[in-house]
Amino acid sequence: MALPKELLEVLACPKCKGKLVEKGMFLICKKCKIAYPVLDGDVPDFLLEDAWPLEKARRSKFKHNLKL
Ligand SMILES: [Zn+2]
Repeated sequence: MALPKELLEVLACPKCKGKLVEKGMFLICKKCKIAYPVLDGDVPDFLLEDAWPLEKARRSKFKHNLKL
């Protein structure tokens, strides 16, 4: 999976507006320690209720089986 660099540059954490880092199947906000799942390879899910705590994502090796 890879989001286009241009997209990654304009995306921001919905909570703190900080920069996001792509990691496995997630976009990570290091500041909030939150992992937003990326669905179907290229659709970031920024709903806070869908977001995972960073630790949980790390335990899952930054993989999920969520679908749109
Ligand atoms: Zn954040």
